[in-house]
Amino acid sequence: MRLPRPGRKVPAGGFGVALDPIEHHRIAAGATFPGLESRRTLPSCAAIVKCTMELMPQFEAGQTLLIDADDTLWENNIYFERAIAAFISYLNHHEYSPAEVRAALNAVERETILAHGYGLTSFTRSLVTCFERLSPAPVTEEKAERVLGFARSIAEQEIELLPGVAETLAELARRHRLILMTKGNRAEQADKLARSGLGAHFSAVEIVAEKDPPAYREVMARHALAPHTSWMIGNSPKSDINPALAAGLNAVFLFHKDTWVLEHAELDAAPHGQRLIELDAFVKLREIF
Ligand SMILES: [Mg+2]
Repeated sequence: MRLPRPGRKVPAGGFGVALDPIEHHRIAAGATFPGLESRRTLPSCAAIVKCTMELMPQFEAGQTLLIDADDTLWENNIYFERAIAAFISYLNHHEYSPAEVRAALNAVERETILAHGYGLTSFTRSLVTCFERLSPAPVTEEKAERVLGFARSIAEQEIELLPGVAETLAELARRHRLILMTKGNRAEQADKLARSGLGAHFSAVEIVAEKDPPAYREVMARHALAPHTSWMIGNSPKSDINPALAAGLNAVFLFHKDTWVLEHAELDAAPHGQRLIELDAFVKLREIF
């Protein structure tokens, strides 16, 4: 059962009725509620208090939440995985297994990102380079066009918000300052944010080339963030959590089962005086903030 948070009228709480304080007190004593068809026995006062206490946000209003975008607010990596699967299938290599082709592509991607940054343009370049390196036969124009098509399929995806993101962001924005903090191609990321319809919840948008400790420190300085009330929230240990902790921020790791392999890393422990919280769903941020 999810009770509303303090400040809202007391339960609905699964009973479908808003209760004033007197009613609340009366039924909380364990009586049945006469207006309800089911006449279910209501929970005791102690149970309601306990439940409400548990659901009170842990941190007071006025925190600054830096929030990642891809695979935190909306699906992203699954489209790349589908394109890669189609690419491997099309390459249909007789010598290398799919896993070996994937490993080769990962290596090419690392090189491309170093030279050209993150984003769909880099990914497209990586697919073509990988195809050229692994294809036993010369790459014809037709084949190159097929490979480009796999990458294009990603750009044509609608933005698919992760469960509960729109409602949760709206609620968080009422109590805290939200800043979008994403890395990648500026135009691509800005376009995704515009299409997501979430832009109004953010007081600022930071699109950086790489999420490393200097980038976080720069953002902290630009927005005059107090480290003890500022948090980085995201799905990538490598980009969202470890460098944010290193820069002095608190962090919330939001697990996403399809996080890109190049973002995988062991989570660092929070340094003394900082917090690291692990969650498995965006909606659970409401229980903390
Ligand atoms: Mg992400």
